[in-house]
Amino acid sequence: MVDLRGVHKRFGTLEVLKGVDLRVDTGEVVVVLGPSGSGKSTLLRTINHLEKVDQGYVSIDGDLLGYRRAGNRLHELKEREILKQRTHIGFVFQNFNLFPHLTALENVAEAPLSAQRRTKAEVRTAAVRLLARVGLSDKEDAYPRQLSGGQQQRVAIARALALHPKLLLFDEPTSALDPELVGEVLDVIKDLARTGTTMIVVTHEIGFAREVADRVVFMDGGVIVEQGPPGDLLDRPTHPRTRAFLSKVL
Ligand code: ADP
Ligand code: MG
Repeated sequence: MVDLRGVHKRFGTLEVLKGVDLRVDTGEVVVVLGPSGSGKSTLLRTINHLEKVDQGYVSIDGDLLGYRRAGNRLHELKEREILKQRTHIGFVFQNFNLFPHLTALENVAEAPLSAQRRTKAEVRTAAVRLLARVGLSDKEDAYPRQLSGGQQQRVAIARALALHPKLLLFDEPTSALDPELVGEVLDVIKDLARTGTTMIVVTHEIGFAREVADRVVFMDGGVIVEQGPPGDLLDRPTHPRTRAFLSKVL
């Protein structure tokens, strides 16, 4: 589903990704750990083409999205193709990013209505079902400011699911939440993981990684330092940088 090869990304003189190779299979749940500033968000943004890579290539589901490779040359997709293909990827941000002037139901319905592939009635029915799936049937008509952080993030997850994405990206989905609201959001993500959704989750929630991840990736300084099944990486890390990080968060 995801195939990154030798991905480099610079902001001016700062090299943020220094040659990242990452493959994620269909149905796999990958948790990305790493200190602040290690390039985790940039990695996700690269996968979703919010950032263009300087070197290497990004291929999603064959080349659903990315730099196509022809011989040794890379062909950038046109903006229109990127926008269209981005609809196959759901992105959940740390700060929810809901539209403040739209209700929960309208937030979930917005993208499918813009895509204009279904009737208003069909979109509405689907949005009602998605809000039920994240446990918010009673909040259809609430505006974001009337919802708790956990509820807002659950709306954001329902919204990310609205176009039936092939891949879901989560960037620290619980970092902005009060501690007592973290569990309700993680439960929704766990539920999605169990249904076989392919996902990459950047999080500091080690318990979640242990329970849900097929694989844990540890990033530091713009590279993947170490990766493996949660039991190996979390309990028997081989790299000193992984050990140092885990000793701080565990
Ligand atoms: P993480 O998510 O692991 O905390 P980020 O990917 O957000 O790390 O950032 C990695 C580094 O890149 C940081 O030093 C950050 O300041 C820098 N950075 C991220 N985005 C930009 C940008 N748009 N312009 C300049 N520097 C950036
Ligand atoms: Mg980040």
